[in-house]
Amino acid sequence: MMECKEIQKLFIPFIDDKLSVSDLAAFLDHMDTCKECREEYDIYYTVIMGMRYLDERQNISEFKLDSEQKLHSAADYLLKYRILLLEKYILLAVLCIGVILLL
Ligand SMILES: [Zn+2]
Repeated sequence: MMECKEIQKLFIPFIDDKLSVSDLAAFLDHMDTCKECREEYDIYYTVIMGMRYLDERQNISEFKLDSEQKLHSAADYLLKYRILLLEKYILLAVLCIGVILLL
């Protein structure tokens, strides 16, 4: 279980899509349960995206994606990643059984 301080260090990597899958899972879990971090994250997201928008005057489409949607899309990504991983294991298991049967 990660602490709030650790989670808050992950805000920027999260916004930049740079979290590892295990960090992302811990991050999303924490966001589901911790109201404080959720509020902090909303503020962070708005400030960072606002600053970037002013700096670059581009990526407007990215700015339209609000902090809430970002969390949802990350959760979707994680789910798809886990399904894919599961499929890989199943495929591997099927291959192993196939090899064993051939021998
Ligand atoms: Zn927290």
